[in-house]
Parts: sequence; C-alpha cells; structure tokens
Amino acid sequence: MHYDGIVIGAGHNGLTTAAYLARAGLKIAVVERNHRIGGGCSTEERILPGHRLNLHANFYMGMGLSPLLRDLELHRYGFSYIEPPVQQAAAFRDGTCVVIHKDLDKSCASLARFSKQDAETFRDLWHTYCEEMRPLLVSLMYNAPLPRDQLIDRLSGAKGKELLSHAQHDLFSVVRKHFVDERIRTLFTSYMHVITTENVPGAGIVFPAIFANIASFTLPVGGAVSLVHALTRVVEAGGGDVRSRSRTAAPPAWCSTTAASSAPANSSPAPSISRPRSAWPGRSDSRSRCVKRPSHGTGATTAW
Ligand SMILES: Cc1cc2nc3c(=O)[nH]c(=O)nc-3n(C[C@H](O)[C@H](O)[C@H](O)COP(=O)(O)OP(=O)(O)OC[C@H]3O[C@@H](n4cnc5c(N)ncnc54)[C@H](O)[C@@H]3O)c2cc1C
Repeated sequence: MHYDGIVIGAGHNGLTTAAYLARAGLKIAVVERNHRIGGGCSTEERILPGHRLNLHANFYMGMGLSPLLRDLELHRYGFSYIEPPVQQAAAFRDGTCVVIHKDLDKSCASLARFSKQDAETFRDLWHTYCEEMRPLLVSLMYNAPLPRDQLIDRLSGAKGKELLSHAQHDLFSVVRKHFVDERIRTLFTSYMHVITTENVPGAGIVFPAIFANIASFTLPVGGAVSLVHALTRVVEAGGGDVRSRSRTAAPPAWCSTTAASSAPANSSPAPSISRPRSAWPGRSDSRSRCVKRPSHGTGATTAW
C-alpha cells in the first residue's frame, strides 16, 4: 500500500491534519495504537445499554468560528452540533445559581441578582471581547503564527494593547479585577479552568479569548466522537485509511512499537511514501456551512 503521508495517532488533531492533507489531494494513512480512534474525543456505551457517554471531551468551544468546519465541509461527512441556550452555570449551597445564557440580557439579569455592578461589567466585557475584538481574536487563533514583526504590527492598535494589558497578570487576578461578587468570581474562575489549571503570572493573556467564547459552547450531535468519524470520512474520501487495532484484521506491525516487536514476520508491511496525487476534486460549494441544529430546552442531550 502506498501513501503520500502517514499521521501517527488518530486523535482529533492528527485526524484534522490528515483531513486537510486529504483535501489537498494527498492519500494519507492515519495509524492509531489503541483499539478505538479518537483519543480524548471518545464516546462509548459503558454503563447502560443504549446510553453512550463522552469519556473525555464533552463540548467544543467556539466551534462555529473554527474554519475547519467550512474548509473540510464537515456537514457533508455527518457532523453537526447544537449550541445550548444555557451555556455556563455555578450552583451554590444556599440554593442560588448564576447562569450564563447565549442571550446577553438573560445573562445580565442572572448576574444582577448577585451584583448589578458585575452585570454591567459583564455587558461591557461582552461588547469588547465578543463583538469589537472578535475579529482580532479569531485571526490570532486560527492562522499560522505570524512572524514577530507582523505580530507586533497586528497588536499595535488599541485592541492589541487591551489584549496585551492582561499579559502581566495571572488569570484569577484578572477575574478578581473585573468582578466584585464572590459567587460570580467563582463562576468565572472555574470557567477559566477550561483552558488551564495553572494560575501562573502571564496566564491572564488568555482571559480575552476565553471570555470571548463564554457563550460559544457547542455540543456535537452524536457525542464527541462524531467529529472524529466525520474527519475519518474526509480522509477515506481522499483515498486514505484510518487504522486502529480493531479496524484491521490484526494489529499492524507499524501501529505501535509494542505491536511491531510482537508482530509476525509476514504481518502488514509499513506503508511507504508515494508521490502526491492530483488535487481534491470536490470543493464545489464554498458557501456551505456545517449544519447547526436548533436546540430546545437546555439542549444538553446529544440526540442519539
Ligand atoms: C477528562 C478530559 C476532559 C476533556 N474535556 C474536553 C472538552 O470538554 N472539550 C474539549 O475541547 N477538550 C476536552 N479535553 C481535551 C481534549 O480531549 C484534547 O485536547 C484532545 O483530545 C487532544 O487531541 P489530540 O489529537 O492532540 O490528542 P489525543 O486525543 O490524546 O490523541 C492522540 C492519539 O494518538 C495516539 N498515539 C499516541 N502515540 C501513538 C503512537 N506511537 N502510535 C500510534 N498512536 C499513538 C493515542 O493513542 C491517541 O489516540 C478533555 C480531556 C480530558 C482528558
């Protein structure tokens, strides 16, 4: 079997890389040492028959902004997601809770029950990070790293200065700087854990980007693994293969060092690199978008 390239590990990052290469016309092999593909993006029936659970990743943050949905046309390969109307919440022992909705006014009303000042702060931060600075944040997140001089240029304006003003702080002190109510601080401190558990100086730089996604959480329909399956289909549509131990008759010798050392001499040979093929033929509808299903109620069920 000849391939243009081999990706080791069928987590979502390896599969995304392979899918982009497939869309560029390359025939790619993805090899996974586990029995199942997906890495941290796994959904399995572990407890009750018919009830599948996400074992690691549950939600995908800011999925709607990610170019990979459109670049890879993942809707054509079975991927869809919902955006639950209730996005974040913290419940307290006294029976109260603070809730962040997709709807800004509803979020502010929830916050105002604890602190009117914090509700106003939240509205200001929303306008700054979720609206005014959104294009800058998205451009920094989803493009190749810029050369140093271009990055300095990109960050030289008022928005760049606002972003960099967080760089000297740790993450939780930024939360304390913005909000006064202890329960609201708890909500935002725990929310910041989505990106890091380390409250080190400098970590404050991520506050604007994390805040910008506070109401952009998506749940993949079919569970976290549905993204992995869609990416696999893209790779396979390009003539490539995604192999785990269970997806082949025997553990391929080239799947892991353990398998290689114990594999019989006549087991599958390692794939070899061949010349690039012609470009991917099917990029016809550049306007198409990933299907976003309407969500009802909390939308927390992933519609099996
Ligand atoms: C408990 C938990 C909860 C999480 N919750 C979320 C969440 O809600 N939302 C979210 O976005 N993220 C979440 N994450 C993080 C997310 O799961 C990871 O960021 C993501 O899985 C990383 O993808 P990856 O492809 O880089 O690596 P991985 O998912 O780790 O995949 C790497 C793959 O490579 C394979 N591999 C490694 N070495 C070899 C080798 N030598 N040969 C063959 N195969 C190899 C591994 O077996 C694995 O399958 C969570 C993670 C954990 C652990």
